Amino acid sequence: MPELPEVETVRRGLEKKLDNFIIKKVEVCRDSTVAFPKNKDEFIKGLQNSLIHKWDRRGKYLIAQLKEVQNENTQLPLENSQYNGFLVVHLRMTGYFKFIENSSHPCKHTRIRFFDKNNNELRYIDVRSFGQMWWINKDLSLNKIIKGLGSLGPEPFSKDFDANYLKKVISKRTKSIKAILLDQTIVAGIGNIYADESLYSAGISPFREAQTIKNNELIKLKESIVTVLKKSIGSGGTTFSDFRDLEGENGNFGLQTNVYRRTGKECRKCGNLIERQKITGRSTHWCPRCQK
Ligand SMILES: [Zn+2]
Repeated sequence: MPELPEVETVRRGLEKKLDNFIIKKVEVCRDSTVAFPKNKDEFIKGLQNSLIHKWDRRGKYLIAQLKEVQNENTQLPLENSQYNGFLVVHLRMTGYFKFIENSSHPCKHTRIRFFDKNNNELRYIDVRSFGQMWWINKDLSLNKIIKGLGSLGPEPFSKDFDANYLKKVISKRTKSIKAILLDQTIVAGIGNIYADESLYSAGISPFREAQTIKNNELIKLKESIVTVLKKSIGSGGTTFSDFRDLEGENGNFGLQTNVYRRTGKECRKCGNLIERQKITGRSTHWCPRCQK
């Protein structure tokens, strides 16, 4: 599943490629991809004649801010035009976007297609079809309609996310620290890969009961999370999962993981073998010698 660095890589790609993209036509190839409004015609009609003004990211959600375009000859940029709500996307397991100049025949996993007046296409492809999209009218609340978005914890790069915050949220928690890091209501955007990599980098065993982790370890953990995520964003995300950026490439961070999918290989620090075991249903990779 794409995690924060992959979604951020997609966001940057969308921002670069979709400069002044005005949605002229929307084709929904699979109804269930539209999460809101319930009626897909309302989704299509709401998005038509919208300029994609700006792409943001919150956790693993992509959020496009839309502006209303009155007519074909409107001059860009649309400084004074009205906002037209948000297009929100969650890629889940296998969703990705492809930008196609001069649209061609879509593959069978195509779920939603957005066209501009020159027949350029932003195509959303999703093999396993867990991904979702919302069009949220400007009069509605994003956080109320998309529950997962409303309940997200702080961004790992924000000032709200520090050792004090971690201390507060883990106190009296008997869950493993791995499960805590995967909980999107505690911190946004971390999934299996970056939870394992951050815990390795901080020298903390993923099995540790959260409340037993000491202050100095929390400081280290916070730093490790930020460093690991930043490094991966710089590499364009990881090669794992079916993640693709807009050019259809996947990242190269995979070459640099220390524990994730390295079961049975030597730890890069101590030479001990990397182990794997499930925690709350998720494969967890760690070095028993380096992580206590
Ligand atoms: Zn080791």
